[in-house]
Order: sequence, then structure tokens, then C-alpha cells
Amino acid sequence: MAGTELNDTRAVVPAPTPASVRQLAKVTVEPSKKKLARQVHRRLLKAYGEPTWRNPLPPVDELVSTILSQNTNDINRDRAFDNLRERFPTWEEVRDAPAEEVIDAIRIAGISNQKGPRIQAALWTITEERGQIELEFLRGMPPDEVHDWLIQMKGVGPKTAAIVMQFSLDMPAFPVDTHIHRVSGRIGLRPEKAGREKTHEILAELFTPETYYAVHLNLIQHGRQVCKALRPLCAQCSLTDLCAYYQQLDPRPIS
Ligand code: SF4
Repeated sequence: MAGTELNDTRAVVPAPTPASVRQLAKVTVEPSKKKLARQVHRRLLKAYGEPTWRNPLPPVDELVSTILSQNTNDINRDRAFDNLRERFPTWEEVRDAPAEEVIDAIRIAGISNQKGPRIQAALWTITEERGQIELEFLRGMPPDEVHDWLIQMKGVGPKTAAIVMQFSLDMPAFPVDTHIHRVSGRIGLRPEKAGREKTHEILAELFTPETYYAVHLNLIQHGRQVCKALRPLCAQCSLTDLCAYYQQLDPRPIS
């Protein structure tokens, strides 16, 4: 995510088990949209298969990695993360280091002047709240409280919180990055004017929690490979008959 990034080649893990899933949605949606969501999920599974992602990181590591991932690719995110850990072997050392040294260690990830202070501020918030740098206690809390706890940290928004929840804590959350926002809007899964935060709530309601993981990763892949920002490759898309954007382009029935 982008945020959650899909090209990560580290060891992979299966999707979270349904038993671990609890509902987080807060909005109501039309039954027809739920049907559309099911169809989209099935088509994406057919196109891209059951996706896998890297091994889960501990929640503090995932939080830092997600902050580093903003506006960069997976490779530079991981290089920045590794540089940081090499230079400062503990999170306490990162927290207490001079800001310029943290910024320097993560420079390869870009906008390091923003990301460095954001990481240190998050580590300070965790320290102040918990007396130490750990987030394992979140595992025992309901998802909506975990979400609220995470976004109280300066610089941690709904997408970052959802990534930590989905990919580290094995909790239901639907991170919405730029690809998911664009693709879901074109298909018509969300109202045109819904922002990313609202889209997070809508998609969390449209899809069933046990499918969040696969839908999230497959929508990103679809956005990168086919439903591109500037010129969607509709001729290569398996969703044309479901897609509102395509229907507007070509109102003829699909044979
Ligand atoms: S039909 Fe075109 S706009 Fe619709 S999802 Fe496919 S690529 Fe995107």
C-alpha cells in the first residue's frame, strides 16, 4: 500500500484466516453494489489469482515501513528501512537520534525531511502512551479501537493504520491507496465524490472481511497493470461489462 506495495518479493504468507476477522464497516451500501463487489472479486481472482504478500512484520516495523513507503517504490522503501535499522539497531535509538541522522539514513525513500520527523514523532507517541516502543498490545483490542489508537499519532492517517491492521495485526481493514481509489471509482463501487477515507469505509462494507486481503492486493495490481491512471487499458480488461466508466465510453451491449 502502498502504501501497500505489491512487488515485494520477500517470503510470502497466505491471507488471514476468516476466524481472525472481525467487521469494521460503518456505512450502509446498496445490495446491488455488494453483488457488483462479489463479481469484481471473482473476476480479479480469475485474472490475478489468490495474491500473497511478504511475511508479516511486527506492528512497529510495519508502521515505520508504511511511513517510508509514501511516494516511493518497494525497493527504495526497503532500502531506507534497512539503512535505518543498520544505523540504529533499536527503535529507541531511532527515536533518540538527531533528526538529521534519521533523515540521512532514509534519504533514498524520498521526502525524508517529512518522513524522518514523522517516524520519530510516532515512536515518541508510542513511548509516551506505553512506556516502551511496542504495539503488540493492540492485538487484544477491537479493530475500531485499534484504528482510533493508531490515527491519534501525528502523521498516521487511515491508510497507514489500515495497512498496519491488515498486514501486521491480521485485523480487518481496507487500506485505500491511489490505485484502489481510482479503480473503485471507475468501476462504480463508490460514489464519484467519495474521498479516500470514505472509500475505505465503503469498500470495507461492500466486501466481506475474509476477502479484504485478496481484493486489496488484486485491485492494486489491476490499477498498476490495466486500469492505469492516464490511459486505462480497457481493451485488456476483464471487467468491462461491470465497469461504469467503460459503459459510459461505449454504451453498446457487450456480446
Ligand atoms: S474497463 Fe477500463 S476503466 Fe473499467 S476497470 Fe477496466 S480498465 Fe478500468
